[in-house]
Amino acid sequence: MGIVSVIDEMVSSSRVHAWAYTTAGEHGRPAKGVAIVACMDARINVESMFGLPTGDAHIIRNAGGIVTDDVLRSLLISQRLLGTREILLLHHTDCGLMRFNDSQLVPQLEREAGSKLPFTLGAFTDLDEDLRRSLALIRSFRFLVARNSVRAFVYDVSEASLREVV
Ligand SMILES: [Zn+2]
Repeated sequence: MGIVSVIDEMVSSSRVHAWAYTTAGEHGRPAKGVAIVACMDARINVESMFGLPTGDAHIIRNAGGIVTDDVLRSLLISQRLLGTREILLLHHTDCGLMRFNDSQLVPQLEREAGSKLPFTLGAFTDLDEDLRRSLALIRSFRFLVARNSVRAFVYDVSEASLREVV
């Protein structure tokens, strides 16, 4: 089944009118004042993990939940324009970003595409190390108003537990 037919199916069965949009929080300000940066892994439901109804938090997701320039851009807007004051970083065990490395994959992709990849893929080998690097990156990003209110956690998918990285 192609991607278009899956999307067609999703759109026709969507319940947009029932619950896709919440009126809580003026101009979309997250009610709990928190922003979460998490991996896009399809097995993780960030909202239910932290008991967050729609409207409570900004949830910024990408492959690995790594802190890229675009994540810093979103956090800046989240804090400066939409009033969030705390940041939670979430990595997880069995992450796809640990199953390859940039130095092997990038040259292969560039050969196939015949051009230079304009960004890194951000693979990492150590969850704690990547989170500590991310914490440091956010704490040194002076455009954030609450750049020290950031904490990082590893979700262990086999034990279904959370562990804080300090
Ligand atoms: Zn992941």
